[in-house]
Amino acid sequence: MSMETENVVARLKSSGLFRTKGLIGGKWIDAYDGKTIEVYNPANGEVIASVACMDWSKLTAAERSTRLRRWYNLLIEHKEELGQLITLEQGKPLTDSIFEVVCGASYIEFFAEEAKRVYGDILPSPMPDRRMFVLKQPVGVVGAITPWNFPLAMVTRKVAPALACGCTAVLKPSELTPLIALAAAELALQSGIPPGVLNVVMGDAPKIGNSILESPQVRKITFTGSTAVGKKLMAGAADTVKKVSLELGGNAPFIIFDDADLEAALKASLATKFFNTGQACICTNRLLVQEGIYEKFINAFSNVVQSLKVGNGFSEGVDQGPLINEAAVQKVESLVQDAISKGAKVVVGGKRHNLGFTFYEPTIISDVKNEMLIARHEIFGPVTPVIRFKTEEEAIQIANDTEYGLAAYFFTNNIQRSWRVCEALEYGMVGVNVGLFGSEGAPFGGFKQSGLGRECSKYGLDEYLEVRTKHTMFFYFRKKNHTYKLFHLHH
Ligand code: ADP
Repeated sequence: MSMETENVVARLKSSGLFRTKGLIGGKWIDAYDGKTIEVYNPANGEVIASVACMDWSKLTAAERSTRLRRWYNLLIEHKEELGQLITLEQGKPLTDSIFEVVCGASYIEFFAEEAKRVYGDILPSPMPDRRMFVLKQPVGVVGAITPWNFPLAMVTRKVAPALACGCTAVLKPSELTPLIALAAAELALQSGIPPGVLNVVMGDAPKIGNSILESPQVRKITFTGSTAVGKKLMAGAADTVKKVSLELGGNAPFIIFDDADLEAALKASLATKFFNTGQACICTNRLLVQEGIYEKFINAFSNVVQSLKVGNGFSEGVDQGPLINEAAVQKVESLVQDAISKGAKVVVGGKRHNLGFTFYEPTIISDVKNEMLIARHEIFGPVTPVIRFKTEEEAIQIANDTEYGLAAYFFTNNIQRSWRVCEALEYGMVGVNVGLFGSEGAPFGGFKQSGLGRECSKYGLDEYLEVRTKHTMFFYFRKKNHTYKLFHLHH
């Protein structure tokens, strides 16, 4: 290094102004792999310094996969305490919270594996001396906005595929449940996911939402939450033409035909309605029961619903925790009130639980009509509206008479009907003789106003990838007077 350069560098170093690391979150940080870029003096070509070269997407898929796998292992290692944190800030029974940690971690495990399987393509060429390649590349910075009902699983379901593809992410967790998201982010750092790759921001939701939307660097927005907010985000993404995935509200029908296995249908409808105190977008919102078994089913269903144990998620044997907040209870109350005023009957429950706070009784309401508000809005609470129907056509018509199209379920032992009804339902996910479903390997998402795009599975990975088509031409096959030569010269 020349004397001149040495002097300048020494002066800057003594005043603390000669910096060569990256600045992330107020901290000077080296590249995770120690890679550097050299800075030259253009006057004489000498190297002045080496600065940190930080590029997550340049890591090989296997290296990203290893770090994600470590993140999975850490979540599993800490599942008990992370589960306790979920119960503390969200309220669900502890066993359900621990289950959520395992399920949330499974998304990371799955996408750690998929990271190594982002395949491109070589396509048939229209010309003998050209070749066409399809390369899959990370879309860029991903903005992820997540809800409170599955405060860990909804985070990992978005962040894991983004990171697996080589994207970086800015996460805004729900203001009601930020602690579990922050705990998961800490474990991501511990697993070797470099600083700056996963960023978590909290604060005023619309303001953060808008800055994510306005940023031209954010190339993709992924959201789970209400249809109203999803529509705003979709409109806001138009300005910078971002890719958008939305997982919005549902109005799931659960149809039980006369020919169903009643015991199986009973068990499944119980789980599908009361899971997470009814606070899941795939929870049953309308129970449709065929007239031949209507009375019998309601009697049997009432017996089990009455025996559900409501309480603090930390208490032993609790089936149902509180609702998330007072606004959620008031929404449930007003929907129940509206249904009763229009002729529906309370069979079980129907009011706040005597535990107080935001506890609500497990409830069944019969004689519901599809026009009532309770059958049109997402209840997000432990209330089962039951609708009676006569024919298969009528059941399908009622089931599809909604702007939503996320999950639907039906029980029948008639094999023809099982195909016919499945294909007639306008829903992204259909459970045939099964209730609650979910797997990191199966596409998750809805038709109509329930959303756009799919999460989980190989389809979910595509949402974070850009397709680059590379057209190449090689010249060494060209012969004199060959017709292709003319083509190349003139085009
Ligand atoms: P829910 O009714 O289930 O709480 P929301 O759609 O209100 O659903 O919330 C889901 C997520 O969206 C939360 O993280 C919340 O903070 C966020 N959110 C709410 N309003 C906006 C907005 N205008 N822009 C961006 N994010 C928002």
